[in-house]
Amino acid sequence: MGTAAQTLTAERIERALSQGDVVVHYQPCYDLRTGDMVAVEALARLLDPDTGELIEPAGFLEALEESGLVVRLDEMVLAAAAAQVARWRELPAGSRLCLAVNLSPADLDDPMLPQRFRETTEAAGLPLEAVVVELTETLLSRTGQGHEQVLAELAALGCNITLDDFGTGNASFDYLRRFRVDGIKIDRSFVQFLGSGGQHERMAESLVRFCLSLGVHVVAEGIERPQHVTALRRLGCPFGQGFLMSRPLPAADLGELLRTDAVPPSLARPTDQDVL
Ligand code: C2E
Ligand code: MG
Ligand code: MG
Ligand code: MG
Repeated sequence: MGTAAQTLTAERIERALSQGDVVVHYQPCYDLRTGDMVAVEALARLLDPDTGELIEPAGFLEALEESGLVVRLDEMVLAAAAAQVARWRELPAGSRLCLAVNLSPADLDDPMLPQRFRETTEAAGLPLEAVVVELTETLLSRTGQGHEQVLAELAALGCNITLDDFGTGNASFDYLRRFRVDGIKIDRSFVQFLGSGGQHERMAESLVRFCLSLGVHVVAEGIERPQHVTALRRLGCPFGQGFLMSRPLPAADLGELLRTDAVPPSLARPTDQDVL
């Protein structure tokens, strides 16, 4: 069953949601130094009720955000993913695995979100310390009064608050001043320039160094080439995610990766240029 780059109509999206046709794929995040899988990011897909195809967020997320139904989607994703990760944490290689989930602005509109997070993860048997909440700055730029409170409560419960797609918006630095964050994911539009030489690479390197200087967890996203890994290791960026190591996978395939407990080939051996 492949994924399709297509857009669903609002009606089909609602039907898929109400039928529970939400499928969660998981993309591993690795410690670039050791090759250990440290987290999985839950990424939602919808099963098209008409064709049986899996549709990626580009085909439904905007419509769900406009209708507010994204809150239901995110509840379903959290419930399914928390239960799944709790099971994976029983495997030797998964004992400290974290779960990263993405939130949309409407999620933060609900003052009960922290309590729902607590109840859902408790029912699943996953400690909130193992949960990473990913927020984009588009989301944060729309945050109202109550949002800061909701974020503070999530943090107080033990969740890790992470800025996603860092560098893409124009308010990145403003947010770092206003919110306490535990982590930053550097957007792939910067990561792709690492190892390329020239001005863009220097910009990307500076961004990585800047994030590291804040003393937060730094994750590079969109790692697609070995030269990205080499550059990130040289810069001291601890964590990374990308197609080079693994695409987002169905739960069964991710479980297989964990059971095998092998370092991905792309991280297996430092190259001559790597300084570990
Ligand atoms: P994101 O949170 O930044 O997630 C990373 C996206 O980049 C994913 O796309 C992933 O498949 C893709 N990606 C990962 N590694 C690479 C790489 O090496 N190269 C390239 N070109 N792409 C890579 P996806 O799954 O289509 O998700 C797109 C966005 O939709 C996510 O961006 C996130 O903002 C949003 N999203 C996904 N699932 C959920 C969800 O359950 N709830 C909410 N509210 N938003 C979600
Ligand atoms: Mg994300
Ligand atoms: Mg991102
Ligand atoms: Mg992204």
